[in-house]
Amino acid sequence: MSYDKRAFFNSILSVRLRVKEEDLNKAITIFKLKFKDKSQSWIRRCIRRLIDISASPKPNTWIVRGRPILGDYEAFYIITLHRRDGKYSCTCYDPKKLFGYRRMKDICTHVGAVILWRMIKEKSIDDFIYHK
Ligand SMILES: [Zn+2]
Repeated sequence: MSYDKRAFFNSILSVRLRVKEEDLNKAITIFKLKFKDKSQSWIRRCIRRLIDISASPKPNTWIVRGRPILGDYEAFYIITLHRRDGKYSCTCYDPKKLFGYRRMKDICTHVGAVILWRMIKEKSIDDFIYHK
């Protein structure tokens, strides 16, 4: 994606997320620094998933709509933040499911997207400090 295309995509994204474009860009910059060991495609998939996230009525729980184009097999995934250790789990980590183990070793893009979404929508301070 060229710079102009990406800037255009981010401005549409900021409208859809109902946040200021500069806040979105700032969050993405911090997110990239925080996950600097991750590939560009991992980061990109997290950003693309932002529009698929909904907060659940249950505290510390989010729902990410699955998209086959991003390699998803399920209609949705449930991400839970475990307050005790500050770690997230995702229903795609279920070892009974295909690729469950493979994905558990690494943080999945569903969890990555929720972390970024919270940084943007909740300005979540714990994710700046505690995660990993
Ligand atoms: Zn996942």
